[in-house]
Parts: sequence; C-alpha cells; structure tokens
Amino acid sequence: MNKAQFAKINYIYVLLLSALVILIILFSKSIWIAFILGLATLGIMGTIVVGHLKLTRASSLIDRLYEKEKKRDFSIAPQLLGDILRDSPGTKSLQKKAAEHLSMRFQMIKLAVFFRYKNSYEVKIFYNINPKLINRPRIERLRHILKEVPGSGKILKDDSIGRLLLNEKALEEFNSPSVFVYNWGRSRSVIIICDDPHRHFASVLSDDEFNRILWPSLDELIRLNDRGKKIDLELKKLKNDYSRSKRDLVNAGKEVNRRSSELNSFVDISSDLYSILDENQLFSTLRTIISSQIGASGVEMLYPTGEGRYIIDRISEDVDSGYDSMVLEADSELYEMILKKSKPLLLPLAASVLKAEDRFLKPAIKRGFQLISPLGIGNEVGCLLLIGEKRNKNQYDDSDINFISVITNIASLSLANIRQFATIERLSYTDSMTGIFNYRYFYKRLGEEILRAKRYNRELSLVILDIDNFKLFNDNYGHQTGDMVLKSTAELITKAIRSIDIVSRYGGEEFCIIMPDTGKNSGRVFIERLRNEIAEFKFKSRTIAEEMSITVSVGGSVFPHHATTPDRLIYCADMALLKAKSLGRNKAIMFESDLAESESLLREDEL
Ligand code: GH3
Ligand code: MG
Ligand code: MG
Repeated sequence: MNKAQFAKINYIYVLLLSALVILIILFSKSIWIAFILGLATLGIMGTIVVGHLKLTRASSLIDRLYEKEKKRDFSIAPQLLGDILRDSPGTKSLQKKAAEHLSMRFQMIKLAVFFRYKNSYEVKIFYNINPKLINRPRIERLRHILKEVPGSGKILKDDSIGRLLLNEKALEEFNSPSVFVYNWGRSRSVIIICDDPHRHFASVLSDDEFNRILWPSLDELIRLNDRGKKIDLELKKLKNDYSRSKRDLVNAGKEVNRRSSELNSFVDISSDLYSILDENQLFSTLRTIISSQIGASGVEMLYPTGEGRYIIDRISEDVDSGYDSMVLEADSELYEMILKKSKPLLLPLAASVLKAEDRFLKPAIKRGFQLISPLGIGNEVGCLLLIGEKRNKNQYDDSDINFISVITNIASLSLANIRQFATIERLSYTDSMTGIFNYRYFYKRLGEEILRAKRYNRELSLVILDIDNFKLFNDNYGHQTGDMVLKSTAELITKAIRSIDIVSRYGGEEFCIIMPDTGKNSGRVFIERLRNEIAEFKFKSRTIAEEMSITVSVGGSVFPHHATTPDRLIYCADMALLKAKSLGRNKAIMFESDLAESESLLREDEL
C-alpha cells in the first residue's frame, strides 16, 4: 500500500466515524452518552492521524533520498572524455570518436568544433558536414566578435560568424545553427557550430564546469594525438628507408630482415602504447618491447621524488635493495647531459666524459645498466628509462639507440596522455568548493571498502553529519560566510580523522566519513568528539567582527552490525542523523535497530 492509498482509507474511516457519532448523538436522548461516545471517537481518530503522520515521515525520507540522488552532479565532461578515450582503442581516430560521442550523446544533427591553432581556427571534430565545405577562419576575421567574450563560454547571436566557419552550401543544410565560443588561457579557445534540435547540447554548454573540463582536455588530447601521427609518419619514412637499404645490402640481408619486421611492428606498438591508460601498464609494455626487440637484460624506470631527485620505484617487481643507492640528482652534470642529448645516452660514454664522479653512474654501471633515456611531458621530465646490457653481451649500436629513441618518444606521448587522463579523473571526484571528495567518489569508495571489510572480516563505520540550522546561518551572515564555514568545516573534519578515513561532501551542508576498521564503540567515541570539536570551534571572517560558531548533528552506522550493503548502511546512518535532529540537534547518535521504527513499512529494495 502506498502513501496515497493509506491516506485515502484513513480519510474514509474518519468520515464514516464522524457520520456514526453524529447519528448516535442525534438518536441518543442522554447528553452523557453522547459526550462519552464523542470522546471515544476523538481518541480513535487521533490514533489514525498519528499513524498517518508516521507514514508520511517515513515516505518523505525516501523522497528526500531520491531527491538527493537526482541532484547529484555526475559531471558529464569527465564521463564523456572517458567514453571517448576507452572507445575501440587503436581502431578509430580520436577526432572521429569525439565526433560520434558528442553528436550521439546530445542528439545533434550536425556538429563542427574548431580549436585555435596559432592564428587560425582549425576544425578538429565534425559530424555530418562535408569537410570540404568547412573553412579555416583566421583569428583577425573573428576578433571583433570574440573579444566580447571574457574568458568564459557564450552562445553567440551574431549570424555572420556561421558564414566565416562554413561554406554557404553547408550552412543551408542546418535547421537552426547555433554557435558557441569558449576561451581558456592565452590563445586557447574553441568555437562550436551545431544543429542541436533538442537543445541538449546548449544546456550543457551553459554549465561552466562542463566547459572548463571538456574543451581544454579535448584540445590537449587532439594535440597529443597529432604529434603521435607525426611520429607515425616518421616511422613510415624510416620503414621505407630500411626497405631501400634492404635492396642495396644483400649481404646484410639477415640483419635488415630483422629490422624491417621490427619496423613493421612499430606501427602496432605505437598504437598499443597510445591506448594505455595506466602508468604501470605502460611501463610493463615498454619493458616487454625493449627486452624482446633489442634483447636488453633489464629495464627499470626512475621516478621523480619531488625533491629534485629520481629514484627507482621500489614497488615495481624484482627490485633489489641495492637500487636504493642509485639516486639521480636533477642538478647533476649527468642529468644535464641526459637532457641535452636528443637520443638515449650510453652510461659508459658519460662516465668517460664527465669531469666529476657522479653519485648515480657508478652503482648504475656496476649493476649492468648501459643506457638512459628521459620520457618527457611537455618540457618536463616525467620519468627516465634505464636499460641494462644486451643479453648476448654485444654493445648497443646506432640502430638500437634509434629504436629506443623512437619508442621513448612514443611512450612520452602516452605518458602525457595517461597523466592528462588521471587529472581528469581526479577532477571528477573532487568537490570544487571544499576540495574534498564528492558524493560520486564517496559512493564508489563505500562499495569498495565494504567489499574489503567483508573479505577481511573487519568492521567499518559510516558517519553522516549535517550542519544545524544552516539556512538560518546563511540568513544571518550571508552565503559567502556560509561558504567559508563549509570549507573550514571540511578542514576541521579532515584534521579530526585518521589518514585511512575518507571524508567527502555528501550534499549542500552535509558531509560523510567512511572509517575502515572502526566498530560501534570507537565510532561512537569519534562522532561525539567530532561533534564537540566543531561546536567549540570559533570561525573568524575578515568581514564580520564577531566570532561565529555552528553545531552539527551526526549519525553513524556500522558494517556488518547494522547493514551489509552501501545503500542500507547510508540509510541507517541517515536514520541516526534524523534522530539526532529530532532530539534537538547538536547530538551524535549511533544507529540502533529501534530507530528504524518505520522499517516494517519500508522494503529494503525501495531504498
Ligand atoms: P537542519 O538543522 O534541519 O539541518 O536545518 P538546515 O537549515 O541546516 O537544513 P536545510 O536542509 O533546511 O537547509 C540546508 C541549507 O544549507 C540550505 C542552504 O541555504 C544551505 N546550503 C546548502 N549548500 C550550501 C552552500 O554550498 N553554501 C552555503 N552558503 N549554503 C548552503
Ligand atoms: Mg541538510
Ligand atoms: Mg542542516
């Protein structure tokens, strides 16, 4: 029975009872009998109304949870980028994938996306438009229109811009062209012309977060991809050179054959490397390629420590503790030499040239390393590839060094791609106001942490807290001060938790904490301490003279005692929070089974 049906039946009962009472009062001669009957009826009606109110409260809780779910921002841009990057790796071009995903997702009939390259706009993504009819407008011709746009997105009303972007013939095929422009940073901007009949695209373009993530990332990915294509071209040229030398060098036929098959597989290798989205995987693929193609005995990667040093990551397999002594300093002569050389550097050669003895060289050569080659990201060194001697003990020759040079160039692009993807992923899990995780991350982690707790037979506490009367606080001090308090509360919670706990913003003025390995008792002690710390904290603002304070209501629940699924655990913590509110706020309550008073009315799958 749902809420509406229940209410309807209640009202019918009330009406029937009222009619009965009126009839009895009319027919009974005694005023006392009428009085007693009236009183009894009022009692029954009261019980029904209280029952109805309880059900309404339980239903409004479900409504609240659903309402919250709807409001969540599942940030379309990172999802879209992820879909584009993961779509059939290696087979379709990035631009084609982007065109298909954008037009399909927003049900657009036509689309052309122009990115700024130096002094002109070049179409990089287009859908259902003849590419011959797309122009390449120079920046001067658009400047008078674009200068109105102060570094953020804007739908342009000016019709003339469409004619600059597309040939008249292509434009005629549009039902209603809309043009959008978005700038970020110097000389970086995008212009989009599209036929968007359902206005789906227009509605996301008005979201600044969407533009801030999507356009710069797509631009960067396309540029990386273009550079990748250039390298592919160079490879094909190299392949041709080798084929030619194959004809000439009949005697060296064996070696040339090996090289030419290597080069044939190069193109496959490069598309393999481009489609990798994980640094460990990139490294292990590199290791396999280098050791199988040139017979290197060991390949390691040096990672930056952030203090101007590069060391071998001890997490990687088979790393012996002797590698601890191999520290490459960014201010050393050797490092300078590595950067200056455009090709991989032979370590024994460096040892014979360097003036001062180097801290890195000696132990590296002692362990059999022969070559070093940096993997760059833009102008920076992302990491360095360290290659051991050949298994057949031969010296590395020029063709080996050329091979490694091309491979590290491709791997550099792939690494830049991976880092870009990681940044996008991090952005999609961060709440931009407080800098802590958002609900999306919280929900994902809660599922993972519950699985882990199940596997290792551990407990896990979930805490939800909600600032008391925050609406009133905003009314009193203004929204900006409210925002400042939200940020400071996030900081207070971050300081109060352990490093293994995960705090995120659950919604407007609500936060939640996942506490692995925490049971009922320590959970209860923690939520009381947290409540108290926040209540005692004095918030200060530059604009408001008085010290401000807030209180929070806190609810907690524990896996596996109260629930074993994420939704149910959230429900229990929410119930405890509701109880804290109903007890007058500024309370920390751990879930008890009797809190789910209306539990019998709620089936678990309704949540
Ligand atoms: P209660 O004690 O029942 O929780 O009362 P409340 O006023 O805190 O609760 P309610 O859910 O009615 O209102 C939450 C308020 O939180 C509404 C909104 O003004 C404020 N809020 C939500 N998100 C933000 C935000 O990002 N910044 C600011 N300044 N206020 C916010
Ligand atoms: Mg709230
Ligand atoms: Mg509140």
